[in-house]
Amino acid sequence: MTDASDKPDFEALRARRNEQVRKVIDETAASLGVEPGKVVHNFDPDACYCDCPRGPCEHDFQGWRDFEDGSGGESICKRCGMGAMSHCLRTAE
Ligand SMILES: [Zn+2]
Ligand SMILES: [Zn+2]
Repeated sequence: MTDASDKPDFEALRARRNEQVRKVIDETAASLGVEPGKVVHNFDPDACYCDCPRGPCEHDFQGWRDFEDGSGGESICKRCGMGAMSHCLRTAE
């Protein structure tokens, strides 16, 4: 490691998370008696790593999106598009 930055290694963290998610998907497939590749899921392996509220978070809420009804807007993650609001709700303790 020559990089002295204190940023977490999100690549590695995501790889580990994806591995765990795949395991769960495989186990679900096994319990359902279907092939692992046939399980329908909407997991996105490129989605930001987020272990909030305590862990490292890869989201970058510098983006912005206007609400369709024109009543304003909200900050969204520049990387995956998750709204800052739903991030809050999902990670609230
Ligand atoms: Zn987060
Ligand atoms: Zn994100």
